[in-house]
Amino acid sequence: MNYSYPLYRPPSEANSLIFQVTEGCSFNRCSFCSMYRTKNFSEKPLDLIIKEIHHAAQQHPNTRRVFLADGDALYCNVSSLLQVLETLYHCFPKLGRVSSYALPNNLMVKSQQELTTLKQAGLNLLYYGIESGSAALLKCITKGTTPDKMIEGLNKASNADIKVSATVILGLGGQHHWQEHIEQTADLINPLNLNYLSTLQLTLDEQIRDEFIQKFSRNGRQFEPQSDQDILKEQMLLVSLVEPKSAVIFRSNHASNALPLKGVLPKDRELILAQLKRAYGDNSQLVPNWMRGL
Ligand code: SF4
Repeated sequence: MNYSYPLYRPPSEANSLIFQVTEGCSFNRCSFCSMYRTKNFSEKPLDLIIKEIHHAAQQHPNTRRVFLADGDALYCNVSSLLQVLETLYHCFPKLGRVSSYALPNNLMVKSQQELTTLKQAGLNLLYYGIESGSAALLKCITKGTTPDKMIEGLNKASNADIKVSATVILGLGGQHHWQEHIEQTADLINPLNLNYLSTLQLTLDEQIRDEFIQKFSRNGRQFEPQSDQDILKEQMLLVSLVEPKSAVIFRSNHASNALPLKGVLPKDRELILAQLKRAYGDNSQLVPNWMRGL
């Protein structure tokens, strides 16, 4: 495959075949994210994508899972995505899952009917960065959306029966705003119908650290980073406040996490909290910093 780098995928797509439908991120302005800073956003020509799918099908005919990259394949118009999905399911007879990242704006722009059509064509799973449920913090990190818009978009995805795997970034509020960050994030999550919930730990690249802090102060807030132990405190509060309408698979298994966790909420809440309490105050239970990264 002729990939354009850097190329990212969620941890759970490690065994998926990846097709780059777009390159970069159509938004590319979140202050905490340096993933696609070196790439200009573009849509790959449809005929080239179709050619790549046919070519890959000769080498990997038994493919069961496909991830559409880069940052937001869902940016593409519905007719292009339908052609991609149709070609994928035609070329890979065992294919059972196609997924992509989705930006808040992607779900706002697509209609309910369009999302339903995409689901019927085989787009089964979207990875979505909630990051925080605090409107003020979303402004500080220049996420380009609000909690209300996220709820609207995510409900559209659930109504279309597309599964959603959402991420929250622990540490995003820093020492001064962590409680607001976690409480308002739980408020946002609880009425939703998420299928998966993951927590990441804020990791700022050197190249964007100053920008991140400046954007906080421009919005009248101060940012002081949280320690790994502070992050455990945030995780404990989040796990105790999340009351999903139906069972949510919870993961904290990203490369950035100091303490890997997994379970189903709310069923495993006490088990997860017990794990967190054991690690609280005991750095020896945490993954050392040098073994983590994005
Ligand atoms: S966090 Fe997502 S939406 Fe924001 S710049 Fe990074 S890839 Fe784009």
